[in-house]
Amino acid sequence: MAAFIGSVCINVQFYRSVRPPHSEIAPTGAEWVGVRGRMRFIGTLFFFLAVASGPASASPDACPGNPDALGTSRVLTISPSEFSQIGSMQYKQTLPLNDHEVVITFDDGPLPPYTNIILDTLASQCVKATYFLVGQMAHAYPSVVRRIYNEGHTIGTHSQDHPLAFQRLSLQRVEYEVDDGIASVDSAIGDAKAVAPFFRIPGLGRSKTADDFLASQSLVTWSADVVADDWFRHISAQTIVQRALQRLEAKGRGILLLHDIHPATAMALPTLLKELKAHGFHVVQVVPAGDRPKSVPELMASPATDRGAWPTVLTSAPSGDHALTTR
Ligand SMILES: [Zn+2]
Repeated sequence: MAAFIGSVCINVQFYRSVRPPHSEIAPTGAEWVGVRGRMRFIGTLFFFLAVASGPASASPDACPGNPDALGTSRVLTISPSEFSQIGSMQYKQTLPLNDHEVVITFDDGPLPPYTNIILDTLASQCVKATYFLVGQMAHAYPSVVRRIYNEGHTIGTHSQDHPLAFQRLSLQRVEYEVDDGIASVDSAIGDAKAVAPFFRIPGLGRSKTADDFLASQSLVTWSADVVADDWFRHISAQTIVQRALQRLEAKGRGILLLHDIHPATAMALPTLLKELKAHGFHVVQVVPAGDRPKSVPELMASPATDRGAWPTVLTSAPSGDHALTTR
């Protein structure tokens, strides 16, 4: 179990030194335009049918443009005083979810183009997720951080440098990783109130030192209930979908841990969301108690900031953010 958990997340430096295969992730731009055009037409058609058949058929969870969307069924508001540590993989407590409710979470980003592709998929299904961002990554891609927030997702943090073996860090280093990670994400997003007091320990490498420090900072420490092994090398999108579904079905509900930095995860997500709906799952979004800004000012992607980071080529990314996706 220790080795298993220790391999959940890979050091950020590793991301920058290894190029994953990333050729056939996204449909072509023309295909996306075609799909979106058809979805808009179908959505308009359903809207008029719904209006014509009276208010009884209108759903408060309707997803504009996609009547078959998985959607987000409810929002669960939590505070650190109620939920200090959550996730049955490591802690006694987890979120109070009903049968077949799932909370979707993404760690380690942001990293274009995969984060952008995943955001497109979530938007098309009106699904809201929770992100645990790495400080270094947020610093490198602030425009993507703001996009995540402005599309209605919850943003928590995941340390400054994503060190390996977090469980062996001294208190001083834990403090640095937690505090600087939050400061980097605050800075990238431009408004500290937009960042939830939610923290996930890198590699799920918990220790008493880390747990105690996080609790003392009034942070909710998130473990998970279910993983899909999407950080494994060479895992296929199909296997990610199968493992996520099998494990969620076995538990009946739970916090699902994924990573928005991997091509296989980006490829798996459309099918995963479709299968979750087919299996009767409902998505719950988790937000912190208290006021949050409705949105934050958008930033233009900076080619200068992005230069030197991989991946270097994915010209057909659907986001249209060419500064991020083409070099
Ligand atoms: Zn991680």
